[in-house]
Amino acid sequence: MSTVEISGLVKNFGAFQALKSIDLSIGDGEFVVMVGPSGCGKSTLLRAIAGLEMPDDGMIMVGDRDVTFEEPADRGVAMVFQNYALYPHMTVAGNMGFGLKMAGIAKDAIADAVQRASDILSIGDHLHKQPKALSGGQKQRVAIGRAITRQPKVFLFDEPLSNLDAALRTRMRVELGRLHNELNATMIYVTHDQTEAMTMADRIVVLSSGAIEQVGSPRDLYNRPGNLFVAGFLGSPKMNVLQATLVSATDGELTASVAGLPDITRPLDVTEGRELAVGDKVLLGIRPEALGEGDISFNLKARVVENLGRETLIYGTPENFRSCDGDAEDGDIVVQYPRQYDAAAGQTLTVGMPLDAFYIFDSDGRTRSF
Ligand code: ATP
Repeated sequence: MSTVEISGLVKNFGAFQALKSIDLSIGDGEFVVMVGPSGCGKSTLLRAIAGLEMPDDGMIMVGDRDVTFEEPADRGVAMVFQNYALYPHMTVAGNMGFGLKMAGIAKDAIADAVQRASDILSIGDHLHKQPKALSGGQKQRVAIGRAITRQPKVFLFDEPLSNLDAALRTRMRVELGRLHNELNATMIYVTHDQTEAMTMADRIVVLSSGAIEQVGSPRDLYNRPGNLFVAGFLGSPKMNVLQATLVSATDGELTASVAGLPDITRPLDVTEGRELAVGDKVLLGIRPEALGEGDISFNLKARVVENLGRETLIYGTPENFRSCDGDAEDGDIVVQYPRQYDAAAGQTLTVGMPLDAFYIFDSDGRTRSF
């Protein structure tokens, strides 16, 4: 059984708390991706699972074993690093078999394991080479191969694709997905890359400042973000955010008013903590791709038009209202058309807006409505 159960995990670096009591249960065979802004503690959490950081409090179970204070090599986990961490003086085969050799496994069995892993990763032709004779993508395969030969219960990946070029990253992403299906192993994966998170994860864990903001399937987090942080973190460009005032709050729905737009009413999803009252400030979010067609339309003076081939991003100033957050600057908003769209900077465009695409968050993100 390759479940991972993390409870109350705390890690301090001096006075700085890098992990603030993390609780997380990972299922057998699950592919969990951890995302969050730089410095939020993703790598520290992964390294704690690997045994490379000793926690100050809390517990880590792998299967039914408490591994919190076990040596990295005894935990049944294998980690793949961003910079490959290959032994430069060893061949590919030597690198891939090294963990087994250290564990005292017989030569023939090591050769078989290396052969199997190299078949899975299509690097059989390179087994006799040294790492310096390999491309970045090949090195990363060797690093993954080294993890596979150890037949770990749990694979840990720390941004394994971020040193590769875009085309190779896409290919490796697909291959890692295949590998996960083939090996049926539990995988925990840290990345900066939203596409990797959205496409590979069974569940995404969003971290910020050493704490978990939300855990859920990629679609759930995207469609039903638990708070404004998650809403803004997933999605590129970011969700546009407008300041508004609550004009009606019932058990079932919230209505918000923003100058320059009709009132926006959305069903209430969650209330935590303080109940909202009429007159409270709230935040309205709308994703760039939700704009374009809709119930009402507004004029947008285009400032920047980015034609990306399959989509067009237009950053511009709305005639009647202002934003307070998002990827556009100075009260502007961004509209994402899923097609080529003929427009030029300086032009005024008519943009549709569906009123039911709005999200309503309270200012500390605990109440939401969508
Ligand atoms: P990134 O995406 O930039 O890799 P991350 O989310 O993986 O960031 P961590 O590497 O886990 O972040 O670091 C979390 C915080 O802990 C950061 O503020 C970092 O500066 C701090 N930190 C990490 N390792 C140490 C250390 N050995 N000593 C002191 N502080 C550390």
